[in-house]
Amino acid sequence: MNLTFLGTAAANAYPEAFCSCENCQQARKLGGRNLRKRSAALINDDLLIDLGPDVMTAAAMHNSPLTQVRYCLQTHAHADHLDTSHFLSRSPGYGVVGAPRLQFYASAGTLRMAAQLLARDCEPHSFFDPEISERLNLEIHQIKASQQFMMGQYRVTAFTANHDSFVESLLYAIESDGQSIFYGTDTAELPEETWQGFHQHKLCFDVVILDHTYGPDKSGDDHLTAEKFIEHIARMSEEKLLKENARILATHISHDANPVHAELVEFAARHGYEVGYDGMTL
Ligand SMILES: [Zn+2]
Ligand SMILES: [Zn+2]
Ligand SMILES: [Zn+2]
Repeated sequence: MNLTFLGTAAANAYPEAFCSCENCQQARKLGGRNLRKRSAALINDDLLIDLGPDVMTAAAMHNSPLTQVRYCLQTHAHADHLDTSHFLSRSPGYGVVGAPRLQFYASAGTLRMAAQLLARDCEPHSFFDPEISERLNLEIHQIKASQQFMMGQYRVTAFTANHDSFVESLLYAIESDGQSIFYGTDTAELPEETWQGFHQHKLCFDVVILDHTYGPDKSGDDHLTAEKFIEHIARMSEEKLLKENARILATHISHDANPVHAELVEFAARHGYEVGYDGMTL
């Protein structure tokens, strides 16, 4: 599997356009890997994780067209991960040619929110009606935590996140070609049922991508901090959830106490992990 980070920032991007903090000013000055768009990832050329607000820009900037995308795993319906206008803009009604039918996987809570956001565009139907699926070139799959399913060549297992239970946030393990990736954002400390799920499904990861919203020396309990991130890797290693030479990467990086890229890379290297950047391919 190839994975490309289309975005590696938390909700307000990095630099946050309205912010004059030290980190944002530095990031503006340095450019390049210091400029982070809202989190999303592309696996091979056909599996998108999160239909986020910046995927159009990312696809163009990082030479990662989404023309072959036929699967989307949606983590949750927060605005930094789901921009429902993409359902419309990728549809034949907007002149889009050749896009495969999108198989869209999300929790009931996330689908409910998407339907609300699209209510006016779908009138007099609803997002879930076959007329709308046809119009949007879309097939909706409602999934829930602990569920395992096949999606083309990918075996996917969904896990409970410690995030917004209203939208029923999910984290995903994706397996293909004997390789295994865990995509773990957005979440605070992983729930015990998720740890148990890793073992129940006998997972052992080649790549772990985890929430790193808050930087070193910053506390926070609605997302992972650098400190908690390090504790999670240690536990994964102790519980033999990592393959030898597994790669651990930070994503969903906010300007809040996360220094600019090179400095964060240095910190991460001291603690045995890497820092994702927009356009990075594994
Ligand atoms: Zn987020
Ligand atoms: Zn800032
Ligand atoms: Zn979120």
